[in-house]
Amino acid sequence: MGVMRSILLAASQNSWLREHAPRYRFVRRAVSRFMPGEQLEDALAAAEALARQGMGTLLTRLGENVASEEEANQTARHYTTVLDAVRQRGLDAEISVKLTQLGLDLSRELCYRHLASLIEYAGPTSVVWIDMEASPYVDVTLELYRRARAAFPNVGVCLQAYLYRTADDLASLLPLAPAIRLVKGAYREPAHIAFPRKRDVDENYYVLASRLLAPEARRAGVRAGIATHDRNLIRRIEALAASDGLRKQEVEFQMLFGIQRSEQLRLAQEGYRTRVLISYGSCWFPWYMRRLAERPANLTFVLKNIFSS
Ligand SMILES: Cc1cc2nc3c(=O)[nH]c(=O)nc-3n(C[C@H](O)[C@H](O)[C@H](O)COP(=O)(O)OP(=O)(O)OC[C@H]3O[C@@H](n4cnc5c(N)ncnc54)[C@H](O)[C@@H]3O)c2cc1C
Repeated sequence: MGVMRSILLAASQNSWLREHAPRYRFVRRAVSRFMPGEQLEDALAAAEALARQGMGTLLTRLGENVASEEEANQTARHYTTVLDAVRQRGLDAEISVKLTQLGLDLSRELCYRHLASLIEYAGPTSVVWIDMEASPYVDVTLELYRRARAAFPNVGVCLQAYLYRTADDLASLLPLAPAIRLVKGAYREPAHIAFPRKRDVDENYYVLASRLLAPEARRAGVRAGIATHDRNLIRRIEALAASDGLRKQEVEFQMLFGIQRSEQLRLAQEGYRTRVLISYGSCWFPWYMRRLAERPANLTFVLKNIFSS
């Protein structure tokens, strides 16, 4: 793992920085590249703009590891407001939640209750996506996913290609006709559980994506979200889909707001299903550090903002 990546991922877990860094204007300005604003209204306006360009969206309010039941309840209430607003505006937008935001650290049952009520509230055609957090949460996340999937059709989960275990997890989930969002993985994980070399992660991503798009998976009703900005992988997956006879509308790419905008537009214009994940909210520090860690060249952007402020 790159030294800079390790430093940034360590910073993402630092509580002093979490509290103090967001006070600086240059940090807030730099983060605006990745999020349209802190308010739900900012995210909805961005979703409307993307809809005009033919893209669907995923909405997520930043925040993780809530420490009180009231915060978990408040988060769940907030997402019902989001679903109401999406319906009122007729947007093709789904929500994406972190289980630790719904109280997983406090009580599994509390978390599941919130998750199930959101899935039900979203209605059968709008998938509620569950983010995948750091590795200690993978077992419990998949356990709650299975439980939710047994009760509802409209729930999806994220799997991370950097983990060795993901190939087995995917194989065991496929019979459930799941909705799976495949990502490379954004956390700091040790080499005994995750591929340390980027090229191995990329290769594993391709292998897992091939399984998700394979004819058997499609016949079983799997919905695959190919969530990456990696142009090389995107090209390979486009070629694979074409050679398997998939129509472009049957392939869904997902990307983060503000990253590879031209690629997002190209995919949408060419007829692929394209969804952009929009994050908003005030608890953005750990999330922002993970975005910097993905591409330490982003730091140049932060530095430019220091000198121009
Ligand atoms: C829709 C969506 C949902 C996600 N949900 C989760 C989740 O639940 N759990 C989880 O662990 N991870 C999640 N991630 C993050 C993911 O794990 C990766 O960390 C992130 O997508 C970067 O990997 P990449 O596949 O784009 O490939 P990379 O090889 O990291 O990047 C490929 C190229 O994309 C561009 N790029 C990538 N990241 C950035 C950036 N931050 N800033 C500027 N350019 C960039 C660069 O040009 C880079 O060369 C999600 C990602 C997406 C798109």
